[in-house]
Amino acid sequence: MFRTLWFLILIGAVAWGAALIADTPSSVTLEWLGYRVDTSIGVLFAAVLTLAVAFAAFWRLWSAFRTAPRKIGRARQDSRRRRGYRALTQGMVAVAAGDAVEARRQARRAERLLGEPPLTMLLSAQAAQLSGDDAAAHKFFEAMSEQKETRYLGLRGQLNQAMQEGDSESAIELAERAVELKPKTEGVTETLFDLQVKESKWSDAEATVRKSVKNKTIDADVGRRRRAVLTHGQSVAAEDEGKLDEALQLAKRANNLAPRFVPAAVRYARLLNGAGKRRRAASIIEETWVVNPHPALVTVMEGLSDSDNAQEKMRLLERLAGNNKDHPESHLALARAALNSGMYKEAREHLDAVAGDEPSARICRYMAELEEAEGVNPDAARDWLRRIAVADPDPAWVCDNCGNVVAEWDAVCGRCGQFDSLEWDTPPRVAAYAADEEFHHGETLEPEAAPAEETGEETADGDKPAAN
Ligand SMILES: [Zn+2]
Repeated sequence: MFRTLWFLILIGAVAWGAALIADTPSSVTLEWLGYRVDTSIGVLFAAVLTLAVAFAAFWRLWSAFRTAPRKIGRARQDSRRRRGYRALTQGMVAVAAGDAVEARRQARRAERLLGEPPLTMLLSAQAAQLSGDDAAAHKFFEAMSEQKETRYLGLRGQLNQAMQEGDSESAIELAERAVELKPKTEGVTETLFDLQVKESKWSDAEATVRKSVKNKTIDADVGRRRRAVLTHGQSVAAEDEGKLDEALQLAKRANNLAPRFVPAAVRYARLLNGAGKRRRAASIIEETWVVNPHPALVTVMEGLSDSDNAQEKMRLLERLAGNNKDHPESHLALARAALNSGMYKEAREHLDAVAGDEPSARICRYMAELEEAEGVNPDAARDWLRRIAVADPDPAWVCDNCGNVVAEWDAVCGRCGQFDSLEWDTPPRVAAYAADEEFHHGETLEPEAAPAEETGEETADGDKPAAN
């Protein structure tokens, strides 16, 4: 609105000025190089204006002409880049779709059009991998790991390759470099941890856990538990190498990190006893019994007595059970000890206290042993033996990842390789039945009979009741 108004005013002013000049009688005389021009001021103005307009037009044309090649070049470059990015995108899509031929084609196109290795190398590597050319992929990943922008991706690529080839040593080294580059990335830290655990590099794995806790990629409590298990592993290794003092120190550390962790308490107490510190060993077992009564602790406690004297063992166990009097494990420990020392009345009292309506396989077995030892009622003994077959299975170490059931705890599940996955639990009957069937190669078994038979055998050497 204002612009239009201003323009109109301007036009008016120019027209008025022109009219004024045209109307004013005037004359101008120019003399130059022997020429003489007589004219009016209006004509002179018009000539100067025309010349200026002509010159401006010429100048515009000239500069457009001068910059044209540069502009054309830039336009061509833009188009190349656009096509390059399109090839890159299409290549990524082909990788995702698993189309190796298309991925390779687009990778080559992107490489040619973009000429920027950091952008195209990942696609080239993936395309090579997809078409099974691991050597080419390796070369791309290696080249990527030498450039700052793509170093991490290159290391990850090489790490995955090393893991696929089962080259744990290289994998660990590559994972360490990747973690160093991005310490707060959860995935690669977990990969490094898994690799270290798989290779039983307990102290290295512990260092990884400490860093993860520091970087807050894992919870402090999870970190403590993991460190307890790893320190336990270091203690086992030290004992295997005959370094008993070191093994003892490590067992102590593991026990301090996780006081409810039975395997660590058992190990610590056993090593303490071996070092002549029997009293300290007994107090470790008792402390653990308060929070987590477990049959493995009973075995260690019994081992603290020099003699094979059943009465003395009974006294030790009575003291232990006194720490958690009403717990079924306390009753079962005392029943076992009473049975061994011929105190049948006490044994029966403790078994009655925990039997309930559906006694577990272990209780049935103890009852059968008791009836047999007393020798008063042979039918009752047979009846208890029959009941073992249908009773609930006894607790055992069960893998919470794959359901594997084992008698001895281990840091890593023997079946699925999961770290710290074994929990003291009652194995499900179905799993026990399936495992049994495998053993018998499909031999027809009564579903009810199969699991108890198996757990019955297992508990015969282990003595395992409920805990946790
Ligand atoms: Zn498992």
